[in-house]
Amino acid sequence: MDTQVSSQPQKVAKRKIRVATTSLSGCFGCHMSLLDIDERILQLIEVVEFDRSPITDIKHCGPCDIGLIEGSVCNSENVHVLREFRDNCNVLIAFGACAVAGGLPAQRNHLDIGDALREVYCDRTGLGKQIPNDRELPLLLDKVHPINEVVRVDYFIPGCPPSGDTIWKFVTDLIAGHMPRLEHPLLKFD
Ligand code: SF4
Repeated sequence: MDTQVSSQPQKVAKRKIRVATTSLSGCFGCHMSLLDIDERILQLIEVVEFDRSPITDIKHCGPCDIGLIEGSVCNSENVHVLREFRDNCNVLIAFGACAVAGGLPAQRNHLDIGDALREVYCDRTGLGKQIPNDRELPLLLDKVHPINEVVRVDYFIPGCPPSGDTIWKFVTDLIAGHMPRLEHPLLKFD
């Protein structure tokens, strides 16, 4: 464990801080990094309770203090979920390169989305010859967007992914009522 990250969440809140997390068009690597806080999660859950998150079974984001968003905005469902988080979270955080700036998925932005779908679903063997069009499927957007192009964002944590120590420092600063500060080596962009 990085000894520079020694702060603990302060038990200053009378009620637990409510935190929601989601992965839009992410790879869940940022959430794996969140779990990289390892045993410190036991300290965290003394002061935090989780709302909608991949680690709970809550289907919709309710009123929360903090929302952590992984992943960029690639399709209509991402837009819907992101707006729900913005409507319900006092503080919204983009964590990870995809949410901050589009990340690797934004490499498709120089392609025509129709050409890309046709190449994957029609031109390759073994996948049939039809672009999936069931109404249950969210429509892809023409371009991949960082989340601040869709909603207002309060904080950005770069990194692909940000490390567990980085997420820990940032979130515990916030919970303690401090302006989060990430200094070298916690601040990185790869
Ligand atoms: S920032 Fe990196 S680790 Fe996080 S969702 Fe994007 S690709 Fe995955």
